[in-house]
Amino acid sequence: MAKYVFVTGGVVSSLGKGITASSLGRLLKSRNLKVTMMKLDPYLNVDPGTMNPYQHGEVFVTVDGAETDLDLGHYERFLDQNMTRDNNCTAGQIYDAIITKERKGEFLGKTVQVIPHVTGEIKNRIRKVAEGYDVAIVEVGGTVGDIESLPFLEAIRQIRLDVGRDNVIYVHVTLVPYIKASEELKTKPTQHSVGKLREIGIEPDILVCRTEKELSRELKAKLGLFCSVPVEAVIEALDVKSIYEVPLMFQRQGLEEQILMLLRLRSYHRNMADWRDLVERLNSPQAHVNLAVAGKYVEVRDAYKSISEALLHGAIANHVKAEVQFVDVDSASLEEQLSSAQGVLIPGGFGSRGIEGKINAVRIARTKKIPFLGICLGMQCAVIEAARNLAGLKKANSTEFDKKTLYPVISLLEEQKNVKNFGGTMRLGIYQCQLKKGSRAASVYGKLAIMERHRHRFELNNKYRQKLARAGLFVVGEYKKGHLAEIVERKDHPFFIGVQFHPEFQSRPLRPHPLFRGFVEAALKKTLGEK
Ligand code: GLN
Repeated sequence: MAKYVFVTGGVVSSLGKGITASSLGRLLKSRNLKVTMMKLDPYLNVDPGTMNPYQHGEVFVTVDGAETDLDLGHYERFLDQNMTRDNNCTAGQIYDAIITKERKGEFLGKTVQVIPHVTGEIKNRIRKVAEGYDVAIVEVGGTVGDIESLPFLEAIRQIRLDVGRDNVIYVHVTLVPYIKASEELKTKPTQHSVGKLREIGIEPDILVCRTEKELSRELKAKLGLFCSVPVEAVIEALDVKSIYEVPLMFQRQGLEEQILMLLRLRSYHRNMADWRDLVERLNSPQAHVNLAVAGKYVEVRDAYKSISEALLHGAIANHVKAEVQFVDVDSASLEEQLSSAQGVLIPGGFGSRGIEGKINAVRIARTKKIPFLGICLGMQCAVIEAARNLAGLKKANSTEFDKKTLYPVISLLEEQKNVKNFGGTMRLGIYQCQLKKGSRAASVYGKLAIMERHRHRFELNNKYRQKLARAGLFVVGEYKKGHLAEIVERKDHPFFIGVQFHPEFQSRPLRPHPLFRGFVEAALKKTLGEK
């Protein structure tokens, strides 16, 4: 039977609960335990697929095509393990399932209530995910005290009752703020937050305290005393340079030993060598590259989380540090900003805002021979750019932005034209792609058959393949079954690749994605060439 580690958050949001949970996952995995992770999201959207990245950050896509919370990206990267749609559960899904059952009459005339029906549905889903694993780490979204998270907290409280004390622990992530004026770290917010948890019957076993300053032994003892946890279980989470240092920081404080002890788990195996090596390489770059990500959500870093991480992985693989600039494509100084970059990446996106700027960004990267990686919408922009500026197809466009364009170089497939619903109606999840022998893409990947994740509605219009090829933009990757173009590239350029899929979702710190490795390598060559 699986053991459970529930991770809750208190005081404020954005404390890095996801990174904390992922780090625990890594540490337990390094002990040879079979670990899985799950995120419970208290909002009523069925999934974050329809949410604005400004509000919610990136939508992470799993192999089985679920649009999920970005924390699943952290889970995959830290555990080096694929998640599925079951690993993210929202209140929207829970209520959706319950109301559907109720309409079918499956409750046999009973009154349907939060306890036991909603909590029961939540518990079932958690148990299902945990099946077959030694440990399931389950992160509850939101902050303790929110109305929305109550059913989830109640469910995780009940699980301890169901499966026994030794099989469940609660880790509470809180903030210990530093008050400058009095030069003091304050424990009160943590005390209050733990008090709130206790009110609903949960006593945390471990406190992870986010702090700017080191916590003294006395302060840890005080926190422990007020919150009823032994001082060894008060873990300090100092701000660190890179999220990948967090597992090591926890390990130094004996966090995983605490967890193993509390869960009555035994493991003599321990292997964090690869992770330590990763952090070492991260901290000792031999050079720098300047990369530009040209998009529209440039103020919200979380909107491009996986891309930032994948660039970082690509840089580590090249023993360099990537200085990533997020450039607004509508900025007047776009040309100037991109020209000073060694690589230009155009990420995915939806909607027409910023589209002309992105097409312009492609032109700049193409004409100035700056290494270019176009992802999803970025690839579509590369196609539009080539069509307009090289193939003479004036005002060519994607039908997403101009329904009546004379040259719909990017368009919907016939069978998609009648789809009305917005949620979950795209080409989603993993598809196989066959690469052309001798192409740059094939040399970057080092093989001819790859699997990549998708999240888009529109496709390269096959009618224009030849015209595009004459303009120097070749389809070199294809989903054979659907005859769909997956990769385009130019031969008259040091590195110019556009991909219809999202390689960023598959990049891992310990296994950087070949496209990002190749992109950074090309960027690096540009720097060296210029010197
Ligand atoms: N908006 C484009 C489409 O739906 C691209 C989507 C994306 O970049 N993820 O095809």
